[in-house]
Order: sequence, then C-alpha cells, then structure tokens
Amino acid sequence: MGIVVQKYGGTSVGTADRIHKVAERIIRYKNEGHQMIVVVSAMGKSTDVLVDLAKELHTNPPAREMDMLLATGEQVTIALLSMALQNRGYEAVSMTGWQAGITTEPIHGRARIHQIDNDRIKQELEQGRIVIVAGFQGASNTGEITTLGRGGSDTTAVALAASLQAECCEIYTDVSGVFTADPRIAPCAQKLDRISYDEMLELATLGAGVLHPRSVETAKKYQVKLIVRSSFTDEEGTIVEEESNMETGKVVSGIAHDTSVASITVIGMPVKVGMLSNLFKTLAISGINVDIIIQSTYHDKANNISFTTSTEDLPRAIQTLHAYQEDLGFESVEYEDDLAKVSIVGAGMITNPGVAADMFSHLSEQNILIRMVSTSDIKVSCVIPRDQISLAVSTLHRSFGLDVQEAVVHG
Ligand code: ASP
Ligand code: MG
Repeated sequence: MGIVVQKYGGTSVGTADRIHKVAERIIRYKNEGHQMIVVVSAMGKSTDVLVDLAKELHTNPPAREMDMLLATGEQVTIALLSMALQNRGYEAVSMTGWQAGITTEPIHGRARIHQIDNDRIKQELEQGRIVIVAGFQGASNTGEITTLGRGGSDTTAVALAASLQAECCEIYTDVSGVFTADPRIAPCAQKLDRISYDEMLELATLGAGVLHPRSVETAKKYQVKLIVRSSFTDEEGTIVEEESNMETGKVVSGIAHDTSVASITVIGMPVKVGMLSNLFKTLAISGINVDIIIQSTYHDKANNISFTTSTEDLPRAIQTLHAYQEDLGFESVEYEDDLAKVSIVGAGMITNPGVAADMFSHLSEQNILIRMVSTSDIKVSCVIPRDQISLAVSTLHRSFGLDVQEAVVHG
C-alpha cells in the first residue's frame, strides 16, 4: 500500500478533543498499511487571532514579521497531533515547512512553492513514522520563513502528495464535500460525488471556500487525486479528478456566488493607445484586484470604462483613481458598492450552446437585472444587485436541474 496525504483544516483540529479524533483516523489508515503524511492548519480561528494581535501593535504589520508570526499557528498543531499519536503508542514526527524541505520563492504572505526536497520525509516514512507537516509555510532559499497565503495548507498537502507520488490527497474539513451551491443560500444544494479539476478550479476561484485555488491548480498539473471530505463523519466526500473519469450528464455542475462585489466606472477616458494599460497598471501597483472589465463608447474622443473589484478594495481603488486623475486624464469616477456575482460552472457547457442565454432568461424571469457578464469555456458569471443574490442562486440551482437528482426512467 502506498502513501496517503491527509490535510486537516482549522475546525478539524480546533480542540484537544478534535485532535484526538484526528489521531484515531490517522491510526486507522496506518493500521491498514498506508504510509501517512498529515498536513495540518492552525487550530480553529487562531490565525485570525494572530492577525488581530499584529494589528494592535502595528498599523501595517511588516510582511516578514507577519510570516514569522502566522507560521507559529501551524507549529502548535503539528506538535500536539504528534503527541496525541505518540500517546497511543504510534511513532510520529512533527516538521515545520522548512524541516519538510519546502522551498518557496522569497516573497512574504503569498509565496509559491518552488521545490520540495523530500529526503527527510522519505527517511521518516521508511522508519515507520507518521509524518506531520505544518501547512501554509515554507522557507525561501535565503533562509526566511514564508507563508503561502490564507488557506494555503491545502496547497502544502497537494504539493507534498505530488512530490511523493501519493495514492491520493484527502482534504478534511467541516463539510462533507463540494456542494452544488452554498447550502446556506440554496437549501436544496447537494454534495457532488465527483467534479473535474477545471470545474473545481472555477468554483474555488469564484469563492467556494472549500479549497485553496492554487491547490486545485497543482492537483491538476500533477494529476493528484483529491478527495474533499468531513473529519466529523465517515461520509465518502467529493472526488476531484480529470474529466474523462466522470459520469457526464449535467451541463451545469455548480453555482458559485460572491456577495462582496463593487463596480467602478471611469468616465471620459481619452481614446488613446495605451490608456487601458495605464489605468489598470496604476490599479495593479496599488494592489487592487480587478475582475470584469467593460469598455463602452462615450463619444469620439472619450470612453467609459467599468470594472468590478471587491468591496474591500473599493476605497483604495477610488483613492488611487483620484490621486492619478490628472495623469490618466479622465473626467470623473462613479461607483456602486451593493453588487454581487452569481456564476454557473460546468464542463458540459463547452458542447452545449445557449447556456448563457438560458441563464439570462432564468434571471430575468425573476426580475433580476443583469449589470455585467463574463464568460469562460466552462463558466458564465453575472453581476446583479446584492439583495437579489439568494433568489438568483436558488433560481439557477433549480432551473439547471440541480435541486433534485433527475429520476432515471426505465423503459
Ligand atoms: N492557518 C492558515 C489560515 O488560516 C492556513 C490554512 O488554514 O490553510 O489561513
Ligand atoms: Mg481552508
């Protein structure tokens, strides 16, 4: 039997009792003959607590010290879990990202993994030990502790699974898998048995918080079989894998939504080569993430450019635009901060024309005004008023046949 990588998120290891439960599960796998690597997050909400503490001591905490601080959260969990296993008579060893051989780029707060030197892990596995690795962290080749970005433990787990050619990578969380929509908004949402990497990547990027988008990217690149499941039950979970292995049928696999959307319209941008790049470079330098962009003709010499950003980035975006108004040469700025985005995702869309049109008509039947649209091969997103998001999600969930399992008619 081969190597299994398991990752346990914050709620799964939130208390001593939870850590005992996790230890029991790991031991079950170990007793079946697997070589076990376990990646853990910080306990409960402790990363948030550390972030808040830092903010009490510095208005804009230095990124290097922030990484030093946040990396401690995971270090608490690895030691405690290793103790829980040893207390049950199992050999276990805890390792920081650096000890596990994880080298990242020399950037703080959102470093990407460059390389994993897995010799030490392999040695420990060969000795029969359970290896417990701190998620979300690594070290740069200049010897600095780095972190991968919030939610990055998933990516640590998948990267280790890829590097060690593990049988699979199980991501344990507090929900039983990937759902067709957020069950809090669409009560009829169902757990998916399977989903493709591409669909999962869209859903994760669109804000279905269950997986770190970079972990899905890495899983696809190295064909790591991912399983999302609950650490609170023995339910099967959702398998994320390549499309060809999947039962097809539904055009839309899931509905994602994001309720923190703002839109900005820059009015009267001069029509000149390079203006768009000037505008969006200025925003990028200020760290503002832009999503959907629409350019509309205003009159011969000027355009209006609308784009969406998060409500979090909105104040900074407005500030930046005002600061550079003269350089960029536009007339004025308007914004709206009460929008949301609803998206349908499904690999079946590639071969089924008219899905976007169907989405628009389902929304308009409910009197929902679509403000902006963006599409990819397997996704259509609509920006709509925020107070209609629940209606939009549940309408689309029902209209695209996700509410109930379609009855099989024998004939
Ligand atoms: N503890 C980190 C966070 O809360 C990393 C993780 O849980 O994946 O973002
Ligand atoms: Mg997470």
